[in-house]
This record gives sequence, structure tokens and C-alpha cells, in this order.
Amino acid sequence: MSKKLDPVTQAIRIQSQKTQQQEHSTPLYLTSSFTFDEAEAMRAAFADETDDNIYSRFSNPNVDEFIAKMCALEGADAGFATSTGMSAIFSSMFALLSKGDHLICCSSVFGSTFTMVTKYLSRFGIESTLVPANDNAAWEAAVKPNSKMVYLETPTNPQLEVLDLEWIGQFSKKHGLILNVDNCFATPLLQRPIDFGADLVVHSATKWIDGQGRVLGGVIVGRADLIKDIYLFCRNTGPSMSPFNAWVLSKSLETLDVRMQRHCDNALKIAETLQGNPNISWVKYPFLKGHPQYDIAKKQMKLGGGVLCFEIKGGLEAGRKFLDALEMLSVTANLGDTRSIASHPASTTHSRLSDAERLSVGITPGLIRISVGLEKVEDTIADITQALEKSSL
Ligand SMILES: *Cc1c(COP(=O)(O)O)cnc(C)c1O
Repeated sequence: MSKKLDPVTQAIRIQSQKTQQQEHSTPLYLTSSFTFDEAEAMRAAFADETDDNIYSRFSNPNVDEFIAKMCALEGADAGFATSTGMSAIFSSMFALLSKGDHLICCSSVFGSTFTMVTKYLSRFGIESTLVPANDNAAWEAAVKPNSKMVYLETPTNPQLEVLDLEWIGQFSKKHGLILNVDNCFATPLLQRPIDFGADLVVHSATKWIDGQGRVLGGVIVGRADLIKDIYLFCRNTGPSMSPFNAWVLSKSLETLDVRMQRHCDNALKIAETLQGNPNISWVKYPFLKGHPQYDIAKKQMKLGGGVLCFEIKGGLEAGRKFLDALEMLSVTANLGDTRSIASHPASTTHSRLSDAERLSVGITPGLIRISVGLEKVEDTIADITQALEKSSL
């Protein structure tokens, strides 16, 4: 076919080479290493003169297939897949930043990312400045002569703030900074940061990419020259993705488009229904009118994503009661599943912080985050509504 296939089609059709069995679905290459018939072929592979697989820490047909699909979806030149989202984020920073470099990082980032930046980067002499999501002047003020990378996620977790990718793309370019975006919440189906100037995109494939709560995984895609450095770093430090997880994730990508459409439709319906609920003080969803960055969300996202949040009246105690009153929704520390999930950060993930510390990272006492699944949306709405009635004071 002469016409280039749409990325959605590529996510279904890209396949690592078939074996002599002519299988329709890619087999699982559970092998730690690959053999060579001749010493010369092995020498050439080690010298990077060929693409032959050597060892599954470096590359593997299942992992390569997953990476190729992610590159097609994100519009990227190259990529590397890792064991978890955190190892992708870790590798994207530690492969490229050295002692004396400076990172500009949005203050609203995933909890472990926040800890990594604030606690561990400095141990290796890498400086960082945390900047509030939509304070453009603060981003400008954070730039230093040794600044090298900008890191952010949008929409953010759990407050669902939306950052203006067009502005950040221009800002990064103007100052010659590597723009590194965690695209986990949106997925490439809703938003492609590379189209706005991102140099790297990282994912927790554990979430919507798998979408069924079965495996952990991560991936970094982007500019070929940067990925080359990341590849060499990972090849020698070992955060590589397992072939089994890659096999599962490659299969998951075949349904990402239809899954995300349904997740987003359901999430918008739930957000709209909750809008008038007397037991909450507000509900937030990127595509719900009244979201503080509604216009930016509409500009850069195709749909609003699968996560919404609201503030239950009655604060901390009401939040705990809400979790207990749910009959169908899962109470678990994950998101991006076929099954809807509720979480209450103030009494769980952020329970060790003081009220003031929690507020400084956007966690209000009655904040409930819902990761919307694929159940019939009427069932999900009914469960949330009955639990709200039972728990709000
Ligand atoms: C879950 C998550 C991560 C970390 O991914 P793991 O696969 O759990 O390591 C990073 N960023 C965001 C936005 C996430 O939701």
C-alpha cells in the first residue's frame, strides 16, 4: 500500500517478523538471548552494524513490536521500553542529566516522580526547581544557565490541571531545553506532545496502555539522538521490559482507540451527572465546562480522558465513609483499568502529610479521584450516587 497507515491502524497491524509457522498473532519470544551461526555476525551485531537481537536486556522481538507501535502512535522516531513507568521516567532523567545540570519540573507530578526529583536527583548533584502548573512567569523565572530539561505531565494527577503544551513547547525551544512529557493520563490517542514540540514522551504503560490492570510497564519515545543515549544507559543499567509484558501490552494497543473512546464518554457522562449532586462541592474533568483550563484542554486534547475528581462535602471523614459505602467500584491504588476505581488521597496515599502539606500539593480533605472503567455507565453512576448519599455529612 502506498498510503501511510493511520497510527491507530499501525497499532493493530505492526508485527515483528513471522516465523516459519506463519502465525497470525505474534508469538511470545521468551528467550534471554539469541544465537549466531558465525562469529562475524555476532561481531557485527555487537558493533551495531546490524539490528540482530543479542540479549533481551538490549532488545527482543516482542519488546520491539511494542516500541514500534508506541512510536507510531506518538509520532516518534525511536523508543525504549522499560519494566515500569517509574523506570522509564528515571531512565529519561538519569541517562541525560549529569552533575551540575538543572531540571525544571512541574510541582504537580505523580507522587513517586516528585520523590525522585526532590530526594534523589540532588544526591547525584542534579539541581531542580519545582514550578506551579500554570504560572508562566514562574516557569520563565526558573530558567538558569545550567537548565537542561523540562518535565511535566498533563492532565495532572489527581487534580487534573491541564498545562498548555503549545506554550511549554515554545518556552522549551526558546531556552534550548529538552521537553520531557509524561503522557500517561491522556495517551497518544487523546494528545500527542511531540506535535507541540516535546522531545521525549514517557508513559506508565501500566495504566491506559494495558488498560486491564494485568501488567506493569513503561516506555520512552522521542528524538532519535536522545533515545540513543537512553538506550545505551538502559542497556547497561537494566530497567528493560520483560518480553511477556511487551506481548501483553502490544495486544492491548490493538484496542486502545476503542477503549479510550468509551472511557472518555463514560467519564464525561459521570462528570455531567455529578455536577448537580448536593453531596459534593465541585467536580472537575478537563472537558467539563467550568474546568479552569477548559479551553486549553479543548485545544490540545481530542477527548477529556478517563479520570475525574470531586470534593465530597464533609472532608476527610466523609471521604473514608465514601470508600466504605461503594458496592461496585474498586478501592485500589491504580488507574486505567476496565473496572472503575475510587481513591481518596487524603486518607491513603497522602495520609502521612499534614493538612497544610497536602493542600500545597493540591490534595483537599474530601478529594475523591475516579478512574472510569468500561462498565455500563449507569451502573457506575448509581454506585457513586448511592455511596455519596450514605457518606456525606
Ligand atoms: C502510575 C503513574 C506513573 C508510574 O508508573 P508505574 O508503572 O506505576 O511505575 C507515572 N506517571 C503517572 C502519571 C502515573 O499515573
